[in-house]
Amino acid sequence: MTATSSTPRMRCAPTEAVAGDAQLERTLQDAITRNEMFVEYQPVFRLQTGDMIGVETLLRWRHPERGVLSPSAFIPLAETSGLIVPIGEFVLEDACRVLREWRSAAMRGLSVSVNVSAAQLAYGDFVRVVRECVDEYGVDVRRLQLEITETVPFKDRQLVLKRLIELRRLGLRIVLDDFGCGYMTLQHLTTLPVDGIKIDQCFTTALPDEPRAVAVVSSMVELATRLKLSIVIEGVETPRQASWLSAYDNVCVQGCLYARPQPILREPLRIRP
Ligand code: C2E
Ligand code: MG
Ligand code: MG
Ligand code: MG
Repeated sequence: MTATSSTPRMRCAPTEAVAGDAQLERTLQDAITRNEMFVEYQPVFRLQTGDMIGVETLLRWRHPERGVLSPSAFIPLAETSGLIVPIGEFVLEDACRVLREWRSAAMRGLSVSVNVSAAQLAYGDFVRVVRECVDEYGVDVRRLQLEITETVPFKDRQLVLKRLIELRRLGLRIVLDDFGCGYMTLQHLTTLPVDGIKIDQCFTTALPDEPRAVAVVSSMVELATRLKLSIVIEGVETPRQASWLSAYDNVCVQGCLYARPQPILREPLRIRP
């Protein structure tokens, strides 16, 4: 089932650090110019066919003393300090570079999905940054997808809505990340212009043994299907989870069972459907 080589099971995500410390904020300021930031890519597959449909970009910080840090350890700090703007541009540019490199026939159909926090949408002129980046790299904007996450409630709902409408008009796909968690509520499905949802690994982990999780995930999949939204199930780790999910013919999957976050791929992976 695994699309990667048979290396021993490792943690999927890098180390967490203690967030919110002043020293980390000082070093974060120079992390981009010192080339300490890099991106890994985690493949996403259509479960029914086994085809890879694209990758999600996942940011990492190779901290000089603390080792490779997970985004959860520094993104909140980046958001409150405004450093999320240059960091976000770095990731966006990286995604466009990947799309430009993926010009071969085998890679041309794949998409790249970038995480964007709602706070990021409200800062600066995010839409212009996206447009310029897409133009500069000459990429087909329809292959670029944004995953909207919300760690704190949207401060300015109207502004976020306006930005999302503009981005969608440019031709990007918009999906709600971590749907059903935190501030990612059902209301967003009725008010925001979205093309899909991603179901968080906290739901996946409890499949298929926990009846409540089964009921919740089934309902989310049915709801998204009725709304004609794309669905990605995140954090799939076991063959039993995969087998339960295979009852649905329209879900895509992502997780360490199939492929871990990794350096850029030159050819698409396949999983056994
Ligand atoms: P996310 O977007 O929900 O990303 C999925 C997380 O689950 C990633 O953690 C990934 O490494 C991890 N993961 C993937 N498969 C599995 C699995 O099978 N099992 C387990 N236990 N975990 C799995 P990561 O890379 O630490 O990212 C954490 C969060 O940081 C992301 O959650 C996303 O919200 C945020 N993030 C990542 N990159 C960026 C970025 O460039 N910008 C912004 N604003 N946020 C980012
Ligand atoms: Mg994501
Ligand atoms: Mg997620
Ligand atoms: Mg998440």
